[in-house]
Amino acid sequence: EAKKETMGFQTEVKQLLQLMIHSLYSNREIFLRELISNASDAADKLRFEALHKDGLLESDPNLDIRIDFDKEAKTITIADNGIGMNRDDVIAHLGTIAKSGTADFLQQLTGDQKKDSQLIGQFGVGFYSAFIVADKVTVETRKAGVAADEAVRWVSDGSGEFTVEGISKEKRGTAIILHLKDDAEEFADGWRLRNIIRKYSDHISMPILMIKQDMPTEDEDKPEEDKAPEWETVNTAKALWTRSRSDISDEEYKEFYKHISHDFTDPMKWSHNRVEGKLEYNSLLFIPAKAPFDLYNRDMQKGLKLYVQRVFIMDQADEFLPMYLRFIKGVVDSNDLSLNVSREILQKDPAVDSMKAALTKRVLDMLEKMAKKEEEQYAEFWKEFGQVLKEGPAEDHANREKVAKLLRFASTESKGSEQNQSLESYLSRMKEGQDKIYYITAETFNAAANSPHLEVFKKKGIEVLLLSDRVDEWLMSHLNEFDGKQFADIARGDLDLGQLDDDEDKKALEESAKEKEDLLKRIKDALVDQVEEVRVTHRLTDSPACLVVGDHDMGAQMRKIMEAAGQ
Ligand code: ADP
Ligand code: MG
Repeated sequence: EAKKETMGFQTEVKQLLQLMIHSLYSNREIFLRELISNASDAADKLRFEALHKDGLLESDPNLDIRIDFDKEAKTITIADNGIGMNRDDVIAHLGTIAKSGTADFLQQLTGDQKKDSQLIGQFGVGFYSAFIVADKVTVETRKAGVAADEAVRWVSDGSGEFTVEGISKEKRGTAIILHLKDDAEEFADGWRLRNIIRKYSDHISMPILMIKQDMPTEDEDKPEEDKAPEWETVNTAKALWTRSRSDISDEEYKEFYKHISHDFTDPMKWSHNRVEGKLEYNSLLFIPAKAPFDLYNRDMQKGLKLYVQRVFIMDQADEFLPMYLRFIKGVVDSNDLSLNVSREILQKDPAVDSMKAALTKRVLDMLEKMAKKEEEQYAEFWKEFGQVLKEGPAEDHANREKVAKLLRFASTESKGSEQNQSLESYLSRMKEGQDKIYYITAETFNAAANSPHLEVFKKKGIEVLLLSDRVDEWLMSHLNEFDGKQFADIARGDLDLGQLDDDEDKKALEESAKEKEDLLKRIKDALVDQVEEVRVTHRLTDSPACLVVGDHDMGAQMRKIMEAAGQ
């Protein structure tokens, strides 16, 4: 047995621990949900490994979670017979935070309890939440498949260090023993624990057991030792997505979301469906309320949790949704895939393609419905995820029009920089004779809103979309038309206003072009190396001159991106 060793927490863990204990004080009971959630994940992982490794479950095939307490000793124990951890696992998982964006996240914390608790919730507290109620935590764990004397004990008071030592443990899996703080004694209570389990963890698909509480009985004189403890199941213990929608409360959906997403803010919306026929599967898809910190990070956790016939197969199965919907969390449970399915097989399976198409449609429909019926909520959604949705038209040609309907823009009609105009509403305001959707792209909203290119449009009262997000030129290079109307960049090439110009405008332009021929030539000679052409324009009413990009040249933003990439 390896001897006891003391180690320090990673700096980020120390910071998180302090902040968490302070800011989650009013919501302490969530520690139990987090520990049960981990126990359930551990069971999922074991079941999956056992598919490929005969005998891994040994003589203990029924996976469950047992919660016990001792009022006198002031302890609570959460035990599972899941995958367990070895020494390296323990040090890696219970001593560091591996999540991307951790430093960013810690920087955003302000010390304001309310704000911080929201941020921490979004980040996910996980295992460390044990220290909200405990001043000492002991973890005893034995990895599935290893010998009884190769188990590990981890102990910490949460202040900066932990110890690890080798021990012997009879059963596979993990037991977490919380030594409660004086002011958290109330949690060492059967009714309290049962209530918390039903409130937060009812959806957990395996049984959560507690020792049956004795009602006062006749034969009270019987000595206690005679009765072996009798365990009873406290939760519903059925995979939530297999139950029928009408039997599931909003609260249950919300708690389930928190379990699978490791987020603990309520989701914004969800869609739960059972598909029968050629392909059979259940899906439960959630739109989070807040964008994660790492939405633009390559390593972001994306994709759905994949189950096959109720058996957990993998996390982050990103074959079931396109990249621009990477913020969606959820579960897909297929009856058609094999239990031995791997990522490589998923990538080639045509059944997966049709599921992806159907799930994509579900999400877009859910968004369309929200945009129609709950405008305010949709505005919230757009603030969080609009930028990512703008990647849609480039990635998903089949749904280009559907995604276009969901886009929101700032425009010369909306007051301020908020992106709140749909293309449909733009169309409804088009002027008589207008056959194009006009837009301008610039580095910032202000640069777009104050561009001299807008002058003639203001004069004629024609609306122009004001685009200033990094992704906008990319988006517009893939959006050619909407509802049969072409998009036109007003800073590009010759500005042809079509029927919006009357004959008089055209004649005036021709005349002044003739008049200014000499001037044009002189400017052209002076700028010979800088510009390709100099033209008379009716674009401007107040400014004397402006720069225009050629019809087929790269836009200014795109050029900057390419330059930055060293091209
Ligand atoms: P998360 O669940 O988001 O990964 P946690 O902080 O809750 O983060 O847990 C950290 C890690 O510790 C888990 O990913 C897992 O590897 C390990 N872990 C925690 N609890 C258990 C457990 N009961 N059994 C096995 N591994 C566990
Ligand atoms: Mg967890």
